[in-house]
Parts: sequence; C-alpha cells; structure tokens
Amino acid sequence: MAEGVLVVGAGVAGLALARALSLRGRSCSLVERRAAPSDDEGLGLNLPGNAVAALAALGVADEVVARGVRVRRREYRTASGRLLFAVDEEQFWGAGHPSVCVHRGDLLEVLRGGIDTDIRWGGAVESVQDGSADARITFASGKVEAYDLVVGADGVRSRVRSAVGGEVPKPSAMTRSSWRFVVANPGVECWTAWSGAGGTLLLIPVDTGRVYGYASSTRRSTDATATWLRTAFTGFPTVVRAAVDAAVAGAGTLYPAPVDEVRCDRWSRGRIVLIGDAAHATGPVWAQGAALALEDALVLARLLDREDRSGVGDELLRARGARVAHVQAMTDRMSRLAGLPEQLRDVLAPVLGPRTYAATYGPLREPVA
Ligand SMILES: Cc1cc2nc3c(=O)[nH]c(=O)nc-3n(C[C@H](O)[C@H](O)[C@H](O)COP(=O)(O)OP(=O)(O)OC[C@H]3O[C@@H](n4cnc5c(N)ncnc54)[C@H](O)[C@@H]3O)c2cc1C
Repeated sequence: MAEGVLVVGAGVAGLALARALSLRGRSCSLVERRAAPSDDEGLGLNLPGNAVAALAALGVADEVVARGVRVRRREYRTASGRLLFAVDEEQFWGAGHPSVCVHRGDLLEVLRGGIDTDIRWGGAVESVQDGSADARITFASGKVEAYDLVVGADGVRSRVRSAVGGEVPKPSAMTRSSWRFVVANPGVECWTAWSGAGGTLLLIPVDTGRVYGYASSTRRSTDATATWLRTAFTGFPTVVRAAVDAAVAGAGTLYPAPVDEVRCDRWSRGRIVLIGDAAHATGPVWAQGAALALEDALVLARLLDREDRSGVGDELLRARGARVAHVQAMTDRMSRLAGLPEQLRDVLAPVLGPRTYAATYGPLREPVA
C-alpha cells in the first residue's frame, strides 16, 4: 500500500520542505544518499534577502543570520583592484531580511533542527516510476517502496528528474569550473569580487576570522589539483593572492566543481514533482540557488495542504515558473556582460552593473505567496 509523501534529498530544498510541512502539521519521509552530514558542508553560501525572507517563513531566519555574517556592502573590482561599482546591500534589502553569508553546514543544521521528520541516511534512490495509483521508488539497495507523491529534491544530478523529463545538466555560460574554499580572512571587509580576463574571485567574510572564497573560470576543468587556480590570480591584489595561496596550500577545504545548469519545461509527471536544483539549477551569478530552493519548498508545502495531489506539480510550476525564469534570464544577462572583452566590460560595468543588480533583485523582494 502506498505511504504518504517521500522527499528525496536532505539538502536545502528537501530539509526546507520537511520543515514547511511540519509547520503545517503534516509529515513526510525523507531519504538522503549520504551516510551522514558531510565535510563539504563547511563551505559557504551567500543568502540574499529573499532567501532570508524564506527562512523567516520557516521560522529560522534569526538563527541562521546569527550564525553567519551580514553582507552589508558588495564591491565589484577589476583584476588590478580598481572599484567598478558598489552596492549598499543593507539599504537595498532593509533590516528585516538582510543578506548574509553562512556556512552551508550551519544552514543545513538549523533546517534539520526541531523537525519531527526522521532522515533516512544512506538511502540512495536509484530510480522512480510513476504509476496511476502510486509512485514506486527503487533504492540502490534493491528495495522498492510505493508513495502517494515523490518529491525530487536531489540536486543538479537528480535521479528523480529522469522520471520527469530527463533533461541533462549543461555547463553554465559564465562559469565553467569553480573552486570553493574557506580560509583565514586576509583582510576583506565585505563581499568583494575581482574579475580578470579568464576568471573571477569572490571573497565573503563567513565567520569571525574566515572568508568563503569562490574562484570561477570561464574554462571547463575538473582539475582537482587546481593548477589553474595556482596561476590565474597572480597579478591580482595582495588579499586575493593571500586567500588563493592559502587555499592551494591546503589551509582549508578546497572544493573543485563544474558549474552546471538545468532548464526544464516540466517539473513534474503524475505523482513525481521536482524542486530546487533538481528542477532549475542555475549558475551562482546571483546566489539564488538556495533562495529558490527554500521558496519552492514553502510553495509546495502550501499546495500539499489538500488531500488530492493531482495537478500539484503543474500548480507549482504556475506559481514558481516566472520567478525562476526571471533569475535564469538575469543570469544570462550578467553572463553576457561578464563575457565581454575585459576592457569593454570594465568601461560598461559601472553603468550596467548597478542597473542589473537592481533589475535582478528588485522583483525578488516581493515575498512568495
Ligand atoms: C560553485 C557553486 C557556488 C554556489 N554558491 C551559492 C551561493 O552562494 N548561494 C546560493 O544560494 N546558492 C549557491 N549555489 C547553489 C546552491 O548550492 C544550490 O542551489 C542549493 O544547494 C540547492 O539545494 P538543493 O537542495 O536543491 O540541492 P542540494 O543542496 O544539491 O541537495 C541535494 C541533496 O540530495 C542528495 N541526493 C542526491 N542524489 C540522491 C539520490 N539519488 N538519493 C538520495 N539522495 C540524493 C544529495 O546528497 C544532497 O544532500 C552554488 C552552487 C555552486 C555549484
């Protein structure tokens, strides 16, 4: 006999959904491939104000903000360190839902806290099959279970997505490869990005004494030894070189990852629904991955208030599609600006940068229903 709702993936989207359902007096089952919370959760996440607004709706914004560092100002700089433009984030987002940088592990821990959902760790899902009476899950262990509804919150390489449309992730236009790390703060006071011809380095204070670093290259690479990273920022300002040198010297976790995107026409099929990166992974140009995942979870939890689950996936897409498409379009717009020849980009950025920032985040200040 089919059980209730199964959520696949205890990342941002899956945990947020379990939490949102629990706040509405509903329960779900939650399975996670990993055997336990893992090491790379120490890396950082920039959460713009709309992510914090979603966390407030989940009842955990204050705790997350208290664990992180507020992003009060953003600075976009050239490879030599010249300021192209700055944004007063504190003023833009207001005091209620500030922009913040936090350890991913802290965010996940807060989302996990106090919910009555047991997480089944080490529960890797192999495949899902939609049927008229239920959705059948096959686990890597060979076990098969049936549910009324399966939610794929299993990230950019979602297995659940294969049962919906099967779109394959594609490399992001702006960032083909990335390296993330957390190291001692070399003297950075606010969110600062330095861009050269072939790459960008972003440093954000993430706790007392440390910065979250994100180096992105326009070239595809899976080079775990970070050869590119060792040389790409040699002409950049001292703080940049200090952070990169510390990262490649092994002073903190160095996490290489390709940056892929998922753009699907459909997020559901029958009793299977996708949320978060599984539905719409987008290059981290505007740091909207976690925000959109949290918002999806809130909206889906509301749609699941009713007993009849037919059409829930279509309704989710209707409710969320325009906001996600907006982030995708603005990601493409910023990628085109970033992809211009360096000199032209540096001339245009002081004018187009602040406008693009406001055009991107302005609509996202509207709360989700
Ligand atoms: C380089 C980089 C930098 C980023 N920076 C930011 C940022 O600053 N701010 C921001 O908001 N976003 C950022 N993002 C995006 C952000 O990390 C994601 O959008 C966000 O984590 C999406 O959450 P999710 O829950 O959908 O997916 P995930 O966080 O990937 O969680 C998916 C979960 O599903 C589990 N899983 C996967 N497959 C299975 C399976 N078969 N069975 C069971 N479980 C499974 C995984 O182990 C994982 O726990 C960045 C992404 C990249 C690549």
